[in-house]
Amino acid sequence: MINKLSLEKIQADCSSHQAQLIAVTKTHPVEVLQSAYDVGLRHFGENKVQEMESKSPSLPKDIHWHLIGHLQSNKVKYIAPYVHLIHSVDSMKLLQEINKEAGKNKRIIPVLLQIHIADEDTKFGLDSSELMTLCSSPELASLQHIRIQGLMGMATFTDDKNQIRSEFKSLRRLFESCQTQFKENIFDWKDVSMGMTSDYLIALEEGSTMIRVGSAIFGNR
Ligand SMILES: *Cc1c(COP(=O)(O)O)cnc(C)c1O
Repeated sequence: MINKLSLEKIQADCSSHQAQLIAVTKTHPVEVLQSAYDVGLRHFGENKVQEMESKSPSLPKDIHWHLIGHLQSNKVKYIAPYVHLIHSVDSMKLLQEINKEAGKNKRIIPVLLQIHIADEDTKFGLDSSELMTLCSSPELASLQHIRIQGLMGMATFTDDKNQIRSEFKSLRRLFESCQTQFKENIFDWKDVSMGMTSDYLIALEEGSTMIRVGSAIFGNR
């Protein structure tokens, strides 16, 4: 069920780059997640609220659940009690909703802003000017129950490694420019979530701090 050799390689690559591995468990049944837990994995990524909701109750409580897919405002309430990090925030409206639901649960929810870096219109995310507008918004200061801690992006689905590398470079550059520009609004700026099965090595070389890998560990979906 788990490709242990491949997992060991990915873990070694992560540790040599001080990056966190998020095991992407979408579409796999709880038995597979339990065996991933049994080999020591604790950070799991799901792309749908409903799927996270149906799996999490039957699994150990010390799993860190990462929401990596598009999130609708009306679904935030379901995951607000326990979600560890939301990677896919792309609007002020969603930030406000997460803040509200986190408040109800008396907690702070860490989030990443999803940036559109790919050369495709199918992928969600902010462009760099929307990011600048959001990060400089005075309203952010009033959102006491969220913590924006970095950026997430997905490269174009292509075999062109140079293109992938340049997209990751641009995301890392954007991350660094926010760090210097918006010191007052963003306090805990530390993560760049980029890299999946096909491109995680390039992502690590370009400064990823979190890779989201599914098929290399669990096989094709
Ligand atoms: C599915 C998914 C991944 C993992 O993809 P693999 O190619 O299986 O490693 C990473 N990030 C997001 C947002 C995903 O939806």
